[in-house]
Amino acid sequence: MAGKKEVDIRFSKFGTVSFTAITKINDFIDYLEQGKVMATRCKDCGAVFFPPRADCYKCLDSNMDWIEVSGTGRLVTYSKLEYAPIGFGDDLPYAIAVLDYGDYKVFGRIAGSVPEEEIRIGMEMTTVVNQLPNGQMNYVFQKA
Ligand SMILES: [Zn+2]
Repeated sequence: MAGKKEVDIRFSKFGTVSFTAITKINDFIDYLEQGKVMATRCKDCGAVFFPPRADCYKCLDSNMDWIEVSGTGRLVTYSKLEYAPIGFGDDLPYAIAVLDYGDYKVFGRIAGSVPEEEIRIGMEMTTVVNQLPNGQMNYVFQKA
């Protein structure tokens, strides 16, 4: 009986952590629905996280602000995919890329509307919310 109680306590601790994580993810989706791609910034040290994190690994604290990924980032690198993970095959070909916003970097996908021959390392791009044909949302990089 004592052993069973111990297991129950552990489980409720795990659930609390999971609930917090899900809440943060839901906020990100709420912002996407408002047309905003958001990162988090630590109120204590100013570190910016994308994808957004609930906890700062530097301060070991959870004192975060949501900030919008706005303005332009510089294309650091990209890779055109000819093969994709299961579920992404219909999107091929597409390019994954990293934009450098100075304080942080954003990993994502270059919009299919950007011609491949116009993609240049160092070009300025913006991160925008994108509606997918199946009703889901993501974000993509467009030419600035
Ligand atoms: Zn911090």
